[in-house]
Amino acid sequence: MSERLALMAGNWKMNLTAGRAAELAESVGRGSPDSGVEVMVAPPFTALSAVAEAVRELPIKLGAQNLYPAKEGAFTGEISGAMLRDLGVVYVILGHSERRHIMGESDDFIRDKVAAAQESGLIPVLCCGEKLEEREAGQTMEVIETQLEQGLKDISVPAPRDLVVAYEPVWAIGTGKTATPEIAQEVHGKIRDWLAGRYNKDLAKGVRILYGGSVKGSNVKALMAETDIDGALVGGASLSAEAFLPIVNYRL
Ligand code: PEP
Repeated sequence: MSERLALMAGNWKMNLTAGRAAELAESVGRGSPDSGVEVMVAPPFTALSAVAEAVRELPIKLGAQNLYPAKEGAFTGEISGAMLRDLGVVYVILGHSERRHIMGESDDFIRDKVAAAQESGLIPVLCCGEKLEEREAGQTMEVIETQLEQGLKDISVPAPRDLVVAYEPVWAIGTGKTATPEIAQEVHGKIRDWLAGRYNKDLAKGVRILYGGSVKGSNVKALMAETDIDGALVGGASLSAEAFLPIVNYRL
């Protein structure tokens, strides 16, 4: 565990109608008053407004799952950073493996989204991670460093709070397979070294690096015991209060 304020983030993906999302957000907020960690939930766009209202008085930050990198205009079906800010969104998940591999998003496009997030006053949660075949070929760090180098190209990060990185090995997302704490720590340590080289040591020391990939109540403590793991990005186990609260309250 580190001195950085842990961030536990729920990525609800394409799940939950607005009413159900608001109920879940409220249950999570009410169930974690003394968690000692920062909690964020990222509902689908259609539920952002209802969730914002539900957590108004609760210690939960609002996240979005995506944005489009333009201020406004003829981009049918897309959502801008300013629209998200207007709803009270604080964080935006970018470069998630599902967007990279299902929607075919490139590192360049993700980089433009990071810049757009910053311009709108949103904190990007930049995801990176290798596929199974890349790990087996010994290419894990090469893949991650490329994703970071390109995703943060010409992006300045004034303060540690302005960026969150999420390491999500693709082979661990939604598969029930978690990276061991040792495997995750090894990559997180290297990501922090990379941040120190690309920016500076002080910044690298303060940026939070989340682990994502089948995090559950039963494995969160061991992961969080590692020096460079500063929180979790949680998919499946964030979809019910019963499963998410043990993660959020892992210190209690
Ligand atoms: C994710 O999609 O970011 C994720 C980590 O999912 P899961 O927790 O279900 O593996």
